[in-house]
Amino acid sequence: MSPRPCTTCRGADDSSSRKELREETGLVAGALQHLGSFYADPGFTNQKLQTLTTSNGGQCPCGTATFAIDGPPLFRMLCHCTICQAYNDAPFADVTAFRARHVHLIDEASVAFRAWRQPPLVQRGRCVRCEAAALERVRLPVMPHLTLVPSANVADGSRLPVPEAHIFYASRVADADDGLPKHAGFVGSQIAFAKALLGGLRKARDSSG
Ligand SMILES: [Zn+2]
Ligand SMILES: [Zn+2]
Repeated sequence: MSPRPCTTCRGADDSSSRKELREETGLVAGALQHLGSFYADPGFTNQKLQTLTTSNGGQCPCGTATFAIDGPPLFRMLCHCTICQAYNDAPFADVTAFRARHVHLIDEASVAFRAWRQPPLVQRGRCVRCEAAALERVRLPVMPHLTLVPSANVADGSRLPVPEAHIFYASRVADADDGLPKHAGFVGSQIAFAKALLGGLRKARDSSG
């Protein structure tokens, strides 16, 4: 069964397709691409159906802050810094990084951004409705702009890479029982982040040919 919004209804648009997909399948649509349209049953009805394709996407827990993802994840990291703990309301952050240009908020007004420290290199966004962590925008000097998405907010978790490492492990709430590298201090954590980013950018470049 495919989701079938009323395309001949007045006001039928991308948002009705997104709503229908979510209602029927539980999936969150990413960027929508129109492939074409056809008649459902010529000679019987003049109902015209549109065919759409979509990429992966994601959302906050309540579904108000929805975003499309149309590029590969660069890396995934587990951060135990106190800001991530507070922002995620969790013992640590599990985030996946994408190039900023590959993550598109469907409604910019659905997320309230705020920098937790100066200079405002990281803007952390919360859903305006459920107030959960939605996504973070990172602008580091020299590096490409990034968007960090709490990994649980990505609709298709099977496409996520495995986490590279634990960073800011010195401020952990609990020990992690896994074989991942653990970087305790500030400098080591920054270096681990930069290395993961460079590795992710190289991989993304190689796979795009
Ligand atoms: Zn929400
Ligand atoms: Zn952090």
